[in-house]
Amino acid sequence: MLASCVMSGATTSRGRRLRVAVVGAGPAGYYTTDFLLRQRAVLDLSIEVDLFERLPSPHGLVRSGVAPDHQSIKKVTKAFDRIASDPRTRYFGNVTVGTDLTHAELMQHYDQVVYTTGAATDRKLGVEGEELAGSHAATAFVGWYNGHPDFTSERVDLSTPRAVVVGLGNVAMDVARVLIQMPASLASTDITDYALEALSKSQVREVVLLGRRGPAEAAFSPREIQDIDELEGVELTIDQPESTLALDATSFSGDARKNVEFLQSVALRTQREAPRRVRLRFLSSPVALEGTGQVERIKLERNRLVERQGRVSAAGTGEYELMKTGLVLRSIGYFGSALPGVPFDTTLGVICNDRGRVTATPGGAIIPRLYVAGWIKRGPVGLIGTNKTDAKETVDHMLADVESGPRHNASPAEVITKLLNDRGVRVVSYADWRHLDELEVAAGIQRGKVREKFWSVASMLQALDARAPVAADG
Ligand SMILES: Cc1cc2nc3c(=O)[nH]c(=O)nc-3n(C[C@H](O)[C@H](O)[C@H](O)COP(=O)(O)OP(=O)(O)OC[C@H]3O[C@@H](n4cnc5c(N)ncnc54)[C@H](O)[C@@H]3O)c2cc1C
Repeated sequence: MLASCVMSGATTSRGRRLRVAVVGAGPAGYYTTDFLLRQRAVLDLSIEVDLFERLPSPHGLVRSGVAPDHQSIKKVTKAFDRIASDPRTRYFGNVTVGTDLTHAELMQHYDQVVYTTGAATDRKLGVEGEELAGSHAATAFVGWYNGHPDFTSERVDLSTPRAVVVGLGNVAMDVARVLIQMPASLASTDITDYALEALSKSQVREVVLLGRRGPAEAAFSPREIQDIDELEGVELTIDQPESTLALDATSFSGDARKNVEFLQSVALRTQREAPRRVRLRFLSSPVALEGTGQVERIKLERNRLVERQGRVSAAGTGEYELMKTGLVLRSIGYFGSALPGVPFDTTLGVICNDRGRVTATPGGAIIPRLYVAGWIKRGPVGLIGTNKTDAKETVDHMLADVESGPRHNASPAEVITKLLNDRGVRVVSYADWRHLDELEVAAGIQRGKVREKFWSVASMLQALDARAPVAADG
């Protein structure tokens, strides 16, 4: 079916140009660019991609989300750099679409526009006291230790002996691991120097991971929870282990079964002495954060499981408990942001779309020449590789639609560059980024680290201004 779409384009679009704007240089942006460029041989289309990124640095959450102790995963950026170095790709870093350029301008100058802007904000708990000092979104904490310029000024106070992480997904596992592991094991990674220093002085010795449902419903993948168990000097325990042991692991399948089996082995073993501890607490929901100006306690309600139409959900029992803590990190999901002029589904936090074609409303009419891929298309789920299949679906639709809409003969990059110059926007090219990358790696080597990141836009631009003049890239 897909092949027939592609082949029908081949007979009608031979030798034509297709100028595409891709907005967001995270995994979805790169995979979209890659699939577009690879189609040339099939369609004989001359495709050019301009990749817009609001930060000077590319790679999205691979740089600012993936945990510093998961360095091997970050190797995917080598493939991204290869895609960006294709002469048919131009990188416009430090350009925010919606501010520096409007959506209407992109639609005016490009044949097709694809949004791959990810999901950068967080979901709120919606409980009293959530705004107290000591209460942070996981998005902010992750951005803080990873040096995302939006979060480097976050005031993270680690002087409390107990931290509570709300949520049991893989981001919650990352957050718990970074908080509780011996800081020395992070010292050679690309963690920011200020975060490493704060973690070295941290008083946190216990992290409580809260899940509103039971062990079988936990969203973490088996490897992630086992990684926590394998941390040196850290003991993993389960509050009320009897409820975990009461489960019949054989009644579950896939990851749920693996998780239950693993958690039962944890529940059965004798607890080991360790200086640090991670406590898993199931069937508990936060109902309030309490304290005077600062989180001092979290109020928890005990839940029971209710099954309705095959779905297991949590219902409060009316039994409450107060737990002392000075740090609460909510990790209950990332959420997309709306872009001016682009239809947005405020319930799901995604750009309205039908398998990658943007629609005027959820389930509404398709808007020609406008597409979406990645987390802003399907919501904040899935691994880096999931964005590949996702981008492929979008690109297949783009190529099938290639005949619709006007064609642009002049290169949009020149018009766009002039618009940005007139607006005083300092565009960062891929050659600029490669220079910053080299500086980061060199600074890292000096400190025995993988890299030492620039963590402000100003410092990146200053480093570029301080460089001896080089020829601009293509
Ligand atoms: C904390 C965390 C840890 C993770 N760890 C792993 C892991 O270990 N392994 C794994 O496989 N996956 C991991 N993931 C998942 C993976 O990071 C995502 O699947 C992937 O990054 C989503 O890709 P994306 O391109 O849709 O979004 P993003 O990676 O968020 O990229 C979006 C890009 O768009 C840019 N942008 C946003 N708005 C604009 C605008 N208006 N103009 C221009 N540019 C804009 C952003 O700056 C960003 O660079 C993790 C995710 C998180 C949150």
